[in-house]
Amino acid sequence: MNLDRRGFLVGSLAATVAVTARGTSAATLPDPKQPGVLRLSSQLSRIPGESLEEKMEKMKKWGFEAAELPGGIVGEEKKYEDACRNTGVKPSAVCWGSDKGSLVSTSPEERKKGQDSLKAVLKSAGQLTSTGVIFAPVFHGESELAGREIRKILVDTLPELGAYAAECGTRIILEPLNRKETFFLRQLADAASICRDCNSPGVAIMGDFYHMFFEETSDLGAFISGGDYVHHVHLASRIRVLPGQDNRQFIDGFRGLKLIGYQDFCSLECGCRGDAEVEVPKSAQFLRDQWAQATV
Ligand code: MG
Repeated sequence: MNLDRRGFLVGSLAATVAVTARGTSAATLPDPKQPGVLRLSSQLSRIPGESLEEKMEKMKKWGFEAAELPGGIVGEEKKYEDACRNTGVKPSAVCWGSDKGSLVSTSPEERKKGQDSLKAVLKSAGQLTSTGVIFAPVFHGESELAGREIRKILVDTLPELGAYAAECGTRIILEPLNRKETFFLRQLADAASICRDCNSPGVAIMGDFYHMFFEETSDLGAFISGGDYVHHVHLASRIRVLPGQDNRQFIDGFRGLKLIGYQDFCSLECGCRGDAEVEVPKSAQFLRDQWAQATV
């Protein structure tokens, strides 16, 4: 296939996008249901401050609407609920991870344990009105299975877990990683096909600009492939510091988010060069500028 002229089918309207590898694009797509929005969030560890409240107050001042919560929210719900209520910062996603690959283990007992752990986090996430629980099925060294076998376990087990997530008012969000971190699930289109096969309103995907740099030929194409399944975005530069601290560009990906009418959060997951008190607000402004330049 010629990667410079790859066709994408979007919905029933069969609109086509011609995408150049990481460059300009010419798009003819149906208008999204609603105009896409840039709603900034950050992992709490990226924000300086002694307490949750102090971090969230700074985020608010710097134009962040939400905070991405760590995986250990079970039993800590009140702490996060109070901080969000007191500061007016919303919870975005919960960054949970792979639970050491337990959900795709060859052992039914291990899988059951993993499912129970995920259900507990989903329940807390729902209580906190979080947009979803981020789940990376497996990192290198966590499974001996082949990719097709892992995929089958996911398609067999995620529909029930997704139904539970939806019942809790949240989602499971599959995160594709780059090849240095996993042998399985590296592109948004691949994650979207798992959602399609699960056919559950509680199973969604996300894109992480850091991983996407290594795995996607086009940020725009990747988000279009994810379409309505995309419910979270991680923001980081090419070397995984703050957006704007190296030459990683976000405009092409932001075009993709605008074309799909993206409504969820874009959240910092990265290191920082220099003083975070100065650099984080600078990065937020850089992202707003890139969003403004993302014309569609
Ligand atoms: Mg990530």
